[in-house]
Amino acid sequence: MPSFKPPATFRQIRSLAQNWVGCLADLVYPPRCPGCGVATGSHAGFCPACWSRVRFIERPYCEVLGLPFSYDPGPGLLSAQAIADPPVFDRLRSAVLHEGAARGLVHALKYKDRTDLAAMMAGWMCRAGQPHLQACDGILPVPLHRTRMALRKFNQSAELARHLAEQSGRPFLPSTVVRVKRTVRQVGLSARAREDNVRAAFAISPGHEPDVWGKRLVLVDDVYTTGATVSSVSRVLKKAGAADVTVLTFAMAAAGPI
Ligand SMILES: [Zn+2]
Repeated sequence: MPSFKPPATFRQIRSLAQNWVGCLADLVYPPRCPGCGVATGSHAGFCPACWSRVRFIERPYCEVLGLPFSYDPGPGLLSAQAIADPPVFDRLRSAVLHEGAARGLVHALKYKDRTDLAAMMAGWMCRAGQPHLQACDGILPVPLHRTRMALRKFNQSAELARHLAEQSGRPFLPSTVVRVKRTVRQVGLSARAREDNVRAAFAISPGHEPDVWGKRLVLVDDVYTTGATVSSVSRVLKKAGAADVTVLTFAMAAAGPI
């Protein structure tokens, strides 16, 4: 049986419709640099000044904590921090340092509803997360509590995870982990208070145990700060039998190269 091929006119109409959607988006969100707000020619494009201030995290870095080294200690070497205090997850990877224009992107996605930025941000994360992303069985976001979700309407981590799943072709698991305890915002809390805040805050959603048992997973969040939240989720995943957990965040709030 011949496969259905849309006629040229249908394709033209669809492409026109897509352009229309693009035009409407331009009206709602005129193209502006997400870093500083100056007008730019295209969506999700930085102005040259902001672009030059984005610091991508490249090797050499600690293979466990993903922290950039200021010198090359040789392949496979770990940071003193990873040796002294091994994390619950298997490794952390972040695309950029949480500063300058990259910090602006995180803020725009989270607080200004700029979900149109998520695809580009996920593209950067996709590169940082290889080869673990390609080898994983599923991609999960750090979940929001349902009352906060209702207030904010979307979960920035889930937006990033959804685009990562699309771009990498790996399964998106948005409901595998749930936030069972309403926590206060982590911003402004000490490392210790952050840990206490998210303790026992997450659980595997009933019936979703097979998503986790024996699986290689990628856990997605927007920013890695002290790691309290992703550690708490990783603990739940490991306890439920996850074989391997890579934490992948867009930005890392590090003091700088170590
Ligand atoms: Zn700019």
